[in-house]
Parts: sequence; C-alpha cells; structure tokens
Amino acid sequence: MKKALITGITGQDGAYLAKLLLSKGYEVYGLVRRIVNRSFSNLTYLGVEKNIEYVDGDLTDEASLTHVVRTIKPDEVYHLAAQSFVGTSWDQPIVTSEINAMGTLKLLNAVKNHCPAAKFYHAATSEMFGNSNIDGLQTEDTPFHPRSPYAISKLFAYWMTVNFKESFSMFCVNGILFNHESPIRGLEFVSRKISDGVARIKLGLAKEIKLGNLDSKRDWGFAGDYVEAMWLMMQEPEADNYIISTGQTHSIRDFLDIAFERVGINNWSSYVQIDPRFKRPAELFTLQGKSDKAQAKLNWKPQVNFTQLVQMMVDADLERLKK
Ligand code: NAP
Repeated sequence: MKKALITGITGQDGAYLAKLLLSKGYEVYGLVRRIVNRSFSNLTYLGVEKNIEYVDGDLTDEASLTHVVRTIKPDEVYHLAAQSFVGTSWDQPIVTSEINAMGTLKLLNAVKNHCPAAKFYHAATSEMFGNSNIDGLQTEDTPFHPRSPYAISKLFAYWMTVNFKESFSMFCVNGILFNHESPIRGLEFVSRKISDGVARIKLGLAKEIKLGNLDSKRDWGFAGDYVEAMWLMMQEPEADNYIISTGQTHSIRDFLDIAFERVGINNWSSYVQIDPRFKRPAELFTLQGKSDKAQAKLNWKPQVNFTQLVQMMVDADLERLKK
C-alpha cells in the first residue's frame, strides 16, 4: 500500500486530496500543528476524518518535520500547508515567509536527508504571475512578477522545489494552481465570503456583504478537480511543473450575479458594500491560465464550470445555515 504524507490536511485542498488518495487505496498521513481550537471540520464534511493517521508537526520546526518524514518514509509528499491568505500576508509578511518559504525549504531538507526517493509536490500559485501575461493569458512560460508577500514567499518555495530536483535528482513538482474553491473554502476568501453572505441574506441572518474590488477577475475552478491534477503530476515518469486552470476568467461581479440569482435576488447592489479595507495595496487585475500542457500530458480536464461552482457553494451554505 502506498503511503502519502499531506501537509495542510485540515485545509480545503488537504481534505479533498485525502479523500481522493483514500479512494485510491493510499495510507494517508496528515501533518497537524498544535493550535488551541483544532478543527477537522473539512475532513468531517467529506466523511474522511477517521481514515487518516494524524502526525504532529509544524512547518516552522524542522526537527518535527524530520521526525515525521523519517518515521513514516512516505512514497509521496503533498506539501499543501501555507499561510494561504493573500490579504494577511501584508499584515504578517514575516510569518508568511517563515511558513511558506522557509517551511518548504525545511520540508525539502527533511525529505532529501531521510527519504530522498519520495516524490514531492509543492502547492505553487497563479499569484506568482502578478499582472504578467502573454496575450492576456498565463502559461508555464509567463515571467513571474509577484505582487504580495504571499506570492513572493511562494515563488521562493517554487524555485527551491525546482532546485532540489536539479541539484539532488529528486522527483519534485510544482502545481501552479489558479484559484479553486468549494463548499469548504475558508470563509475569509472572497468566493466563500459571497456564498456564505448571500445565503445569510436569503435566510434573513445578514443585511449586506462587505467586499473590496469588484472588478478583479480570476480563473476559478473546483478544488475537487484540482486535487486530481496534483495526483496525476505525481504519477508521471518525469517531474515537471504544470499550470492547472479552467482557461476562463470571471469578475467578482459575475460571481455575485450568479450567487444572488441562485437565491432569487436579481438586483444585488443594495446588499453589497465596498469597503476599502478589503482592497489590496498592490492590485492583481486578471488571472486566466492556459492549462494546455496538463490537458495534453496528464489528460486532465476541469469537470465543474463556473456557474456550477458558484451554485454548489451557495447551495451548501444555505444547507449548512438552515441546520
Ligand atoms: P487552506 O485551506 O488555507 O489550508 C492551509 C493549511 O495549511 C491548513 O491545514 C493549515 O493548518 C496549514 N498550515 C498553516 N500553517 C502551518 C504551519 N505552520 N505548520 C503546519 N501546517 C500549517 O489552503 P488551501 O486553499 O487548501 O490551499 C492549499 C495550498 O495551495 C496552500 O499552500 C495554498 O497557498 C495553495 N494554493 C491555493 C489556491 C486556492 O485557490 N485554494 C490556489 C493556489 C495555491 P491549520 O488548520 O492548523 O491552520
């Protein structure tokens, strides 16, 4: 039976990936850090909480990572843990860098020293491109120009992952994933803020949603589809980096249109307030990824489209709040 170690198991992607790997017969180990109110709610939501072996460790503590890797000796390491919220990275740039950049280096070191044959996946991001594009799209060849401490920390981790592959002949891949969402997306992210807010307004539990820039455009996909791409990358004979995206871009206004329409509200302007606190100091206008390489080499394709994604999220929040 193959052993997989997932960092970030309690997050959105960790839960979807754990479910996928369990369905493929993997023994799944999940790294959890010590926090006061630990929540396994994402894993519970997907019905896999009890099927995982939990191991203690923190990305900022190399000794704990070394212990985990040396004890488990995983076949595949999916490194998803991060301070993943872009907004927070301006308020806490150092902790963001400690976790995302140095944490990745510490984990790579632990794998190199104690389990060098393990395959290593790093959760890179479209945020590394900033406003850079080729004919409006981002491809694997688009130059990086990160515009937040989060994106900069991820770019360090991206290059470290490449460097460990080139220096030590390790199997190290970067998945450059564009935004992906689901009913278990963190509540601080704009997609979930909208789906949760719209459901609350519909049920009379809230009067408005406060948002930043409504004109930002993102390439939004479904997390369940994207974790499949992570696994496929790790099954290839050669390690490589891949963009994972839908190829479609939509504004936050588009998201609001579909979400409010789902609950029967056609004119949402009076329910949405612009709050400058949610605008980014350095804006990122449009992300639209070209995932042709992944589609050709991995035979991967997104299954859930934008409208289905928004409706799924609103429906799930309505259901949850009714309970
Ligand atoms: P998420 O829901 O925010 O989950 C982050 C995970 O990282 C949580 O399990 C968290 O654990 C863990 N973590 C944070 N700091 C840690 C530390 N010091 N030590 C150990 N674990 C720590 O993120 P996600 O949406 O699933 O995203 C997964 C990865 O993909 C992240 O690296 C993210 O940056 C990247 N990514 C996401 C997207 C997207 O659209 N979702 C796009 C591109 C890239 P706690 O429960 O203890 O907080």
